[in-house]
Amino acid sequence: MPHRPSICVIGAGLTGLVAARKLARNGFRVLVVEQHSTAGGTLSSMRIGHEYLELIPHHLRKNDRNMLSLFKELGLFDDISWFDSYWYGRAGRKKLGYPERGFHTLVSALTQEITDDGGIIYYGYTALDISLVCNEDKDTYQITCVLADCTSVLIDCDDVLFTGSCRNLAHITHSLDLPTDYRDSLMDVTYRANMTLLLVMKSPLTGCFSRPFNEDHYPFQRIIQHSNLVGERKYGGHILYLSGSFQTTHPMWTQSDSEVFKSYFKALQKTNPTLLRSDIKTWRLTRTRYALPIAFPETSISTPLPGLYICSLAMIGNSSGNSEYRMDSCVALANDIADRIRDNRLTIRPVSGSAPVDYICS
Ligand SMILES: Cc1cc2nc3c(=O)[nH]c(=O)nc-3n(C[C@H](O)[C@H](O)[C@H](O)COP(=O)(O)OP(=O)(O)OC[C@H]3O[C@@H](n4cnc5c(N)ncnc54)[C@H](O)[C@@H]3O)c2cc1C
Repeated sequence: MPHRPSICVIGAGLTGLVAARKLARNGFRVLVVEQHSTAGGTLSSMRIGHEYLELIPHHLRKNDRNMLSLFKELGLFDDISWFDSYWYGRAGRKKLGYPERGFHTLVSALTQEITDDGGIIYYGYTALDISLVCNEDKDTYQITCVLADCTSVLIDCDDVLFTGSCRNLAHITHSLDLPTDYRDSLMDVTYRANMTLLLVMKSPLTGCFSRPFNEDHYPFQRIIQHSNLVGERKYGGHILYLSGSFQTTHPMWTQSDSEVFKSYFKALQKTNPTLLRSDIKTWRLTRTRYALPIAFPETSISTPLPGLYICSLAMIGNSSGNSEYRMDSCVALANDIADRIRDNRLTIRPVSGSAPVDYICS
């Protein structure tokens, strides 16, 4: 008889993967569902030339204690190189770390460990609804997922850990009896969106790594010249990111990718009048709807329903000692929530062995 998962983690971003890895290591039957076809969330990569590269720039700091421990645990610590970064308008240089083959290796190592410990990751599964099933012995959860071909699948599990945005949790829990106050507090978390344009250029613009743009007439707020930090590598060009933060009411948010590209490029030309369209070999725009929580009421990782947990960026602003929306804070939070779930379920005997299991999907 196939087992059903004891815990379903919704989202294979860094938070979901770190929590799922810890839970799987502790012997829980873990199933991760991810709406996209790859893992990584905001930290996702794609192949550029002969390397993997993040769609949104990510770098490590020396004080990213939790991230550095994670690299160590996964045997990837020696992959990190530290570089001096030159920030426009700032005196001195800041040390920033970047893995030898990008963050793709971190994401791959996490997914590998989850599956090695018997966990399963389903890609292309969007969780649309979470409901409660009342059984004689105990209540369980049922998650309705929709797949790319529009068919839907039901997943039964004991506990649910949701790692997407607070608003999304409010949207997919209408079948649950969540107190109105709690649902409102989820909906009250507001986010700014982000549009990052990745450019593969023929040559660098300037020698600096990062330059801010605070003037309103620039659609982006920062230029990051990744190749000025890590060198040319095998990307097939010089890597430059333009990162813009938006309210979704901004007209640019609904424009097509090529329109956004044109606006970003025009603004870039203002700072570099000799720049030509032919200086750009290729480009890719990445939109992140829930990039930066800007207002959040007191929301907690324990929802009012036993067995339903949320571990989302907005919680970082509320947890003591963490105030930055960085990978490091996500890892700390994910480890905490995994411990909390384990402690709440101590009465349940972990499954033995690490053989993969099939899950009932009705
Ligand atoms: C522009 C930008 C730059 C950044 N730069 C840095 C940096 O240099 N250094 C640093 O430390 N941090 C940086 N960060 C922060 C870092 O990216 C995040 O802290 C971290 O990646 C968040 O991970 P997460 O898993 O919590 O969320 P996400 O990465 O958003 O992952 C959530 C996952 O859940 C999935 N999901 C959501 N809803 C559903 C659903 N209903 N069904 C199925 N799947 C679902 C999503 O597809 C996604 O894969 C940056 C963030 C941004 C936006």
